[in-house]
Amino acid sequence: MLLIIDRWAPLHGACFHVGVDKTVFFLIGSSALPRPLLFRPTVCNPPAPLSFCTTTHRWLGWLWSPAGGARETLVLRVQTASRHAASLSGFVQASGIQLPLAGALFQGKVIGSLIPGMWLYAVMAPDAMKVLEDAWSSWGRLLLGAPPWKNAHAAAWELGWSCYGAAYAMLVIALRRARIWLWPRDDFYRGVFIQSHSFHESWASRSKQLLLDWGLTDICDGNLHDGLQAYKKYVKDALTGKCLGAARTSLDSSSSCLPRDLVHPSGHPSSLLHLLLRFQCDWALLVASRSLCRLRMRLLPLLHRGGRVSHSKKALCIFCNAVISAGPVTHVVLKCPRWQELRSCMLVSGAWRADGVGRLGRLLNLLPGAAGFAELLYLVRVIDLETVLFWSAAGRQSFRCVLP
Ligand SMILES: [Zn+2]
Repeated sequence: MLLIIDRWAPLHGACFHVGVDKTVFFLIGSSALPRPLLFRPTVCNPPAPLSFCTTTHRWLGWLWSPAGGARETLVLRVQTASRHAASLSGFVQASGIQLPLAGALFQGKVIGSLIPGMWLYAVMAPDAMKVLEDAWSSWGRLLLGAPPWKNAHAAAWELGWSCYGAAYAMLVIALRRARIWLWPRDDFYRGVFIQSHSFHESWASRSKQLLLDWGLTDICDGNLHDGLQAYKKYVKDALTGKCLGAARTSLDSSSSCLPRDLVHPSGHPSSLLHLLLRFQCDWALLVASRSLCRLRMRLLPLLHRGGRVSHSKKALCIFCNAVISAGPVTHVVLKCPRWQELRSCMLVSGAWRADGVGRLGRLLNLLPGAAGFAELLYLVRVIDLETVLFWSAAGRQSFRCVLP
């Protein structure tokens, strides 16, 4: 077997060599501890005892274990990615980096740390899809400072994600299968892969079943002559469609977010962060974009009752103490007297002058380059900062109240 792999590796730009320091053995099942195993990598080397591994062994980015290591590697990858996401979120919250840049870094740093081995662990670890889905959801909320109960799709759409969580893992799995199918017909690895479909528990069988579950066509069932790029586009479009469908259903039934028609009238994730980077906007605007996303997600606690956050029907505006029975965002952005002076300076632009039912929606969906966009971000940023000041003061006040 080692000789076969040794001959196969150079065909794929790899070099295969074994040594005592790279080789461990696991005890599988309940058999007795074997005698020391001697290993002789080549005839030139003297035999050396192999180390016996009882738990896990990290090698080639994979955490090997007696059970294969898929579950252990999944946990390791998600923990590493979560650390990167927490670090990014900390920088964003402290305005050390702005959200649009953090979104770009997220792809490279957080998702980049998940990718190695994803095609394997996402199939072989039994609960991998749910773990990835949950992790992705928590990272989206983290970047926007949203609590765990907030709709994860709302955060994903504010961040401009269209294919994420389990769907992203499916993209990686489908492309891995496609690449193997496209290798030469006499390739050893390809041959083993094809034969493995007859074994129920093999990666080949399980990944094929996942494709069927997601309604995806395997590249071998379509037209192999269309090539990898055409297949990638087909899979990505199909998975994005599934993600969008799930998100729309979830957002339409969510009462904790602004109506989807109001904040995402196109029925697609926001392109705000992406466009902000492309337009190379001012640093202040880039920082303020997070405030706009948070306002659109209803993450700013704009109402109070007795100095405490309130969602009741007779709560008061934190800025003017007016009773707000519905639509705190509409009140604060369009009507609150606290911001009247600031708004009067912004009436120069069409979006601010426009009247009617859809006025808030038009404002909240302004994009970089549109008239009134900079003014909107300035106002929203001030509202966000003043909201933080209000609750800081309220917190200090209640702290003083409980002091003896
Ligand atoms: Zn008010």
